[in-house]
Amino acid sequence: MSKQVKVPFADLHAQYLNIKKEMDAAIAGVIGSSAFIRGPYVDAFEKEFAALIGAPHCVSAANGTDSLYIAMRALGVKPGDEVIVPAHSWIATSETVTQAGGTVVFCDTDEDTFTIDPALIEAKITPRTVGIIPVHLYGQAADMGPIMETAARHRLWVLEDCAQAHLAAWNGRTVGTFGAAASFSFYPGKNLGAMGDAGALVTADGVLAERMAMLARHGGLVKNEHRIEGVNSRLDGLQAAVLSVKMKHLRKWTAERRKLAGVYDRELSGIEGLEIPIVAGGREHVYHIYALRHQRRDELKKFLAERGIETVINYPVALPFLPAYARLGARPEDFPNAYRHQSTVLSLPLFPEMTPEQQAAVIDAVKTFCRG
Ligand SMILES: *Cc1c(COP(=O)(O)O)cnc(C)c1O
Repeated sequence: MSKQVKVPFADLHAQYLNIKKEMDAAIAGVIGSSAFIRGPYVDAFEKEFAALIGAPHCVSAANGTDSLYIAMRALGVKPGDEVIVPAHSWIATSETVTQAGGTVVFCDTDEDTFTIDPALIEAKITPRTVGIIPVHLYGQAADMGPIMETAARHRLWVLEDCAQAHLAAWNGRTVGTFGAAASFSFYPGKNLGAMGDAGALVTADGVLAERMAMLARHGGLVKNEHRIEGVNSRLDGLQAAVLSVKMKHLRKWTAERRKLAGVYDRELSGIEGLEIPIVAGGREHVYHIYALRHQRRDELKKFLAERGIETVINYPVALPFLPAYARLGARPEDFPNAYRHQSTVLSLPLFPEMTPEQQAAVIDAVKTFCRG
């Protein structure tokens, strides 16, 4: 047997080594100026990130869960308000609805794209519905046209969860520019990742931006002037400096992800029993996650692990079926796609620094499993 190539799910150390000089200088700059909270690094990052997404305002936060919560508080969510969220996502999308005082209403996701199915939203709307949170899951934009139309017809706000979709697009328009506000995560493993927790909101609405900034900073933008009760959710200077450096490489890294996904698509298509990710028309996928589907998913995961290939299941239990939502009494037939996907999805390693040798090892192992 030939030498085994280890393939991690992601390799943040390799990424750091590629930009070590810039990173070390940026971090030293923050330490040298003691600009740990707010200050020039945070201001610069907010301006740069708004420009990158093409949004007029950016409000940074401590992480991408807080940013969802802060946006909903700023949008005025109150007890009794219902917010529609996809059944297949990370729990931050739904738990923040409850945190903000609202009621979670799950909606099933689309068979092919794992994003909220716009055709099913209408039936979830009641007189108490106030908003919709589409998640651009795995890096593919949700179907924003019909989602925005439905929202407009019922006068609902849309809060985009862009945690996995920096620079993804729908019909040529960057995600994060459709809704009243959009939330981003810079968790280290995200396409743009800090060296710790970090998050941000973008919006075109200046009044909403100010309200979100106040909420993130104890309810006031001027020291000791607390106009409302807020929370402490600040992006720190070190993370802002790290993000400003990495942001300069994001387009190149995104292109690398798309190239690697193209190789997987080519090599793994047409294999009996294996479904590669489907990109719907007009969507620009940024491949935070490359999610396959296979009926014998758990066996495939084990087979790859035995060959030194790390994979992840995003996510093994869809949100409505988690113990955290037992109170809703969801049945499999209520969310058939999310239910089916939870036992068939498997995310392959895909990161900009991945070597051709590593990718070939993954492809070879997947093919061996499927044909064996
Ligand atoms: C990562 C993630 C979040 C939360 O971000 P944190 O920065 O980890 O708090 C929210 N929604 C989705 C879909 C995510 O993947």
